[in-house]
Amino acid sequence: MIASHLLAYFFTELNHDQVQKVDQYLYHMRLSDETLLEIAKRFRKEMEKGLGATTHPTASVKMLPTFVRSTPDGTEHGEFLALDLGGTNFRVLWVRVTDNGLQKVEMENQIYAIPEDIMRGSGTQLFDHIAECLANFMDKLQIKDKKLPLGFTFSFPCIQTKLDESFLVSWTKGFKSSGVDNACYMEEMRHIDMVEGDEGRMCINMEWGAFGDDGALDDIRTEFDQEIDMGSLNPGKQLFEKMISGLYMGELVRLILVKMAKEELLFGGKLSPELLATGHFETKDVSDIEGEKDGIRKAREVLVRLGLDPTQEDCVATHRVCQIVSTRSASLCAATLAAVLRRIKENKGEERLRSTIGVDGSVYKKHPHFAKRLHKTLRRLVPDCDIRFLRSEDGSGKGAAMVTAVAYRLADQHRARQKTLEPLKLSREQLLEVKRRMKVEMERGLSKETHAIAPVKMLPTYVCATPDGTEKGDFLALDLGGTNFRVLLVRVRNGKRRGVEMHNKIYSIPQEVMHGTGDELFDHIVQCIADFLEYMGMKGVSLPLGFTFSFPCQQNSLDESILLKWTKGFKASGCEGEDVVTLLKEAIHRREEFDLDVVAVVNDTVGTMMTCGYEDPHCEVGLIVGTGSNACYMEEMRNVELVEGEEGRMCVNMEWGAFGDNGCLDDLRTEFDAAVDELSLNAGKQRFEKMISGMYLGEIVRNILIDFTKRGLLFRGRISERLKTRGIFETKFLSQIESDCLALLQVRAILHHLGLESTCDDSIIVKEVCTVVARRAAQLCGAGMAAVVDKIRENRGLDTLKVTVGVDGTLYKLHPHFAKIMHETVKDLAPKCDVSFLESEDGSGKGAALITAVACRIREAGQR
Ligand code: ADP
Ligand code: MG
Repeated sequence: MIASHLLAYFFTELNHDQVQKVDQYLYHMRLSDETLLEIAKRFRKEMEKGLGATTHPTASVKMLPTFVRSTPDGTEHGEFLALDLGGTNFRVLWVRVTDNGLQKVEMENQIYAIPEDIMRGSGTQLFDHIAECLANFMDKLQIKDKKLPLGFTFSFPCIQTKLDESFLVSWTKGFKSSGVDNACYMEEMRHIDMVEGDEGRMCINMEWGAFGDDGALDDIRTEFDQEIDMGSLNPGKQLFEKMISGLYMGELVRLILVKMAKEELLFGGKLSPELLATGHFETKDVSDIEGEKDGIRKAREVLVRLGLDPTQEDCVATHRVCQIVSTRSASLCAATLAAVLRRIKENKGEERLRSTIGVDGSVYKKHPHFAKRLHKTLRRLVPDCDIRFLRSEDGSGKGAAMVTAVAYRLADQHRARQKTLEPLKLSREQLLEVKRRMKVEMERGLSKETHAIAPVKMLPTYVCATPDGTEKGDFLALDLGGTNFRVLLVRVRNGKRRGVEMHNKIYSIPQEVMHGTGDELFDHIVQCIADFLEYMGMKGVSLPLGFTFSFPCQQNSLDESILLKWTKGFKASGCEGEDVVTLLKEAIHRREEFDLDVVAVVNDTVGTMMTCGYEDPHCEVGLIVGTGSNACYMEEMRNVELVEGEEGRMCVNMEWGAFGDNGCLDDLRTEFDAAVDELSLNAGKQRFEKMISGMYLGEIVRNILIDFTKRGLLFRGRISERLKTRGIFETKFLSQIESDCLALLQVRAILHHLGLESTCDDSIIVKEVCTVVARRAAQLCGAGMAAVVDKIRENRGLDTLKVTVGVDGTLYKLHPHFAKIMHETVKDLAPKCDVSFLESEDGSGKGAALITAVACRIREAGQR
């Protein structure tokens, strides 16, 4: 008993010495975590070089785009055939993916040999052979009459299913290797210079085996690595692969043993012919030696097979050499994977990355400790990532089928979405037709005979003169009809100090007042005026007042304005058909606190035109693209049939939002426009406005997104409560999502903020929907504007017209593309007009005061 204990002790000591000896000898092969992090850093640089357009040609790590743009999301289904050309044999697979939420994958496969002569023969021969095998296989499965999509992507050996984020490492590639030799991952498109487009992600095949070919690994490569390289078919190439691949693992061990023997550190300095022959120490031997419970005994077996007569020490040393070589392989792998994870993490900007790595290959699967060491090292190198490893079951074949399945699903879904969006994309002909119809409707609104039934009302405003710069004085102005109700004090100066100075205060109009009685609404307005006068220290002062009232009104004079109908969410009772000046005056009298001289009621479009006209005498058109949309312009008096007189011009408030209310745009309206209209306060009314303006664009987008989701084309088919909520998709989000400098990540953040969990692909789709909807709005608006400017030109019998359009409205001002698209459309559809656009600074508020100032000037001149 005692003796055996002693013996065991003795052997442990001895083993310990041997291990130390080998460890010292192979000091250079044992990489510390600092070294591995340094290698990860270098690999990061190489990845960037490979992705960059200018650096790519000379980069050693090529980072090849695969054009596989999405990983499976679990909704793909169907039957597929796959070919797996992974080794000396090749397989034909039939895969059925059922989309029952569980994503079951059924498989049948058959291995076919590729005869030597065919493998070395011509490509045609090889593919003929493959076709023959395929026919045989389909015969056997009795699927010959089916036309199944075929996946033939052996370079893409495994795809992780169901998980959004994954990348994979292949331990099997090419025709004969069983090495650890490549990896791929999903990269942001914006980082892939070689492929056009910035949206989404594409799988990058890194070809990482070539890492180090430019000398980046020279300091860690050992003499054994150099020897392997020199004796290889491709010296100087694939240097990283040669350090980590299973293909070279046994050979590395052999070279080390030979060198140690030559230095008389092993085998008593004796060598055998077998040990000296390339390839006799196999990677399988490494696995076996490290795997056996009694690895030392296994080492002895291998060494004896090699014609050696090993001592116990030799066996212990050999065992240790194997450990060091395979550990280095796992560590280096971990270092490069760490670089990839770091990059994905930075791409996604996440605090903590959760990622799954799909792995395939025999070293990973068969070596007894490789996987464990790789996992452990990687977790040490990237402690801020949660990494899951997934062995791909039959990665190569199933992978090919899954790639096909994904491609088919994506193509199908893309087609379905495009078909839905098609009617929202207007052709030039359609836009010209919109312009033509607008012209017709304008004439119908102007004409006495048809005015009553015309939807585009073309209302006279009694504004006939624009500011000439001589106006002066202090004026009060009210701005009602936009998002905010405001009271303003405007000081207009002439002469040297010509200009406009404004003070204003915003007041809210509570929903219950908007939907209450007219008296309540106007009492509230007067209350706000009183508050404002007190706030300005002007209590009791009586000033001329201009009232911007942005609803369709029939005016009989500048200071008489009969509300025809509420729009944009207003609904106070007892106002329609009444003169708003009277309603305001009555409310002022009810309060008995101050008196006001209501000089002018104007529309916000008119105010905008006036404001811009103060700066630019060519400004004869006003346009609003905010909550609602409307336009006005200077029409010839002879055409304004509702007002007596033939001389001069008068500004006409078109109320173009109602364009289409007689059905004349029905062929352009989509089911989404109809849905938005139906749920609005004024169903059936303001159809043109509902296709253009800020109050509705977000809702159109939301309706489209719901439709896509219901049909499983978005958000993985899951409709969230948030998405069902009216109004959540505000138009400002359209602007944000379409902003050019915004990465998709930020789009996802916006969607997340809206309670919509999206994948990267989802965010691309949402962005596209926003683009299509906003583009249509801008084009429709442009078509309408083209009709207006062309009419002015024709009125005046001019070949060309130079005109300025004063514009106001947050959608126009803040949307990143709206204005540009609108301008282009006008230019295209009204080529004979030279149209400039001038943004008004607070058109509706300032404009009312300016009109009041003009009216006061004319009144005073008349009195004189
Ligand atoms: P109004 O037309 O009511 O006088 P605005 O011109 O300020 O007021 O327009 C307000 C509308 O503009 C809102 O209803 C909203 O739909 C839209 N909007 C607000 N912010 C943005 C933005 N960043 N981009 C595009 N549209 C916006
Ligand atoms: Mg406004």
